[in-house]
Amino acid sequence: MANAFLGVVAGVFGLMFGSFLNVCIVRLPADESLVRPRSKCPKCGHAVGWRDNIPVVSWILLRGKCRHCGDAISLQYPVVEVLVGLVWAAPFWHYGLTDTALKAALFGTILLGIGITDARHYIIPDEYTWGGLVIGLLLGFLHGLSGFLTALGGAATGFGLLLFVAWAGKKAFGKEAMGGGDIKMMAMVGAFVGWEGVLLTIFGGALLGTLIFVPLNLGKKDRLVPFGVFLAGAAGLTLIFGDAIVDWYVRYIHGL
Ligand SMILES: [Zn+2]
Repeated sequence: MANAFLGVVAGVFGLMFGSFLNVCIVRLPADESLVRPRSKCPKCGHAVGWRDNIPVVSWILLRGKCRHCGDAISLQYPVVEVLVGLVWAAPFWHYGLTDTALKAALFGTILLGIGITDARHYIIPDEYTWGGLVIGLLLGFLHGLSGFLTALGGAATGFGLLLFVAWAGKKAFGKEAMGGGDIKMMAMVGAFVGWEGVLLTIFGGALLGTLIFVPLNLGKKDRLVPFGVFLAGAAGLTLIFGDAIVDWYVRYIHGL
């Protein structure tokens, strides 16, 4: 029961982090400040007051329309808020007040930011990648020097592998197949999930990309692939199921 309460409290925090993530999603690709100016309606320019800025609740009360001009407020706002709310509620509910829960919540929030931004703009801002890398390395320290070294090793694996893939892709196809954002992103992911997790994430990302992106874009030429979207999905799955998959794989190999 205690954990259910904790989950609800974490969920409320998550809604607020989701509200902030919305600001990041809109402003970071445009290189705008996250703190100034205050949010305003893009149509009529009216500043958004506090009562119209309450996660999810305000959007529902306003029926998705600006109080002043009636212009539609994107569904992205409440959806992102709810998603981040769940990303915070679930791990604290499940793991209690632990660093495992904090790590999952932070990682999930960063991955959502990356996935949505990459899908919309084909870029992955450094704030998510370098910023997330620093967070991942610091969280490693919670398990002492060995935890930090595990995170560092994961980051180096992610960075090195993607750098190699990018180099090989350019050699093979003569054009940029993977952006610098993907490389920095996998350094961040590695800090959170370790080197085995990096391998799973790359494999999973390629699989998801093939299963989802290719059928949607059959016959369309030269479509950009927002690979970060699929890497983000695979990284989230890796954090949740990675240990179980690695365990299964090791037992499978031993059984041969
Ligand atoms: Zn307006």
